[in-house]
Amino acid sequence: MDTRFFVTWMEEITAAVRAARDHLTRLDAAIGDADHGTNLDRGFSAVAEALAARPPATPGGALVLAGSTLIRKVGGASGPLYGTAFREAGKTLGETPEVSTAELAAALEAGLAGVRRLGGAEEGDKTMVDALAPAVRALARAVHEGGTAGEALDAAAAAAEDGAKATIPLQARKGRASYLGPRSIGHEDPGAASTALILDALRTVGS
Ligand code: ADP
Ligand code: MG
Ligand code: MG
Repeated sequence: MDTRFFVTWMEEITAAVRAARDHLTRLDAAIGDADHGTNLDRGFSAVAEALAARPPATPGGALVLAGSTLIRKVGGASGPLYGTAFREAGKTLGETPEVSTAELAAALEAGLAGVRRLGGAEEGDKTMVDALAPAVRALARAVHEGGTAGEALDAAAAAAEDGAKATIPLQARKGRASYLGPRSIGHEDPGAASTALILDALRTVGS
């Protein structure tokens, strides 16, 4: 996976977030403040612009630029959290021009660690971690089993999707949704849904 692959991933996310903007905002209207779709649409539009204005030289450079842009452009909780995830993932890749599936798995693991450090959420707290953590595990497992990159990205996307759906019966313990207490039960977490979308975009680029 080269620099072009990672830039295309970011462009794919931008398009997917644009298409799902109202859906994500509706999810956030149920248990938050109805801005998740607009937050991410603004953020990833800025990411696409930044990548076009300053074409990165490496995969890591693409992810660090994406992360820094999200931190700068998105005011909500998701901006710093996704921004940190992409920045940490990018820093882990260093200057390498060509990323293996194993290196991608390690980078996403570092991204997840960054989200955990910043937000303090564990799996089961009904946040983006509930989609990202199983995706990282699935990717690591696929690498360990020695499948193709396509199979590994498929497995990660499916795990993120399952993880997002599995937030529906949970009560939120982090973020705005936690203010609702038991009334947060019965709704999919918007950040988990957008994480599933980000991993689905990765699968699309990889296939
Ligand atoms: P805000 O809640 O500030 O309006 P967004 O609506 O853009 O921000 O993002 C909300 C999402 O952010 C939630 O659905 C959840 O997935 C994620 N989130 C919120 N707080 C945390 C946290 N402490 N750790 C991990 N993810 C979190
Ligand atoms: Mg919100
Ligand atoms: Mg908000």
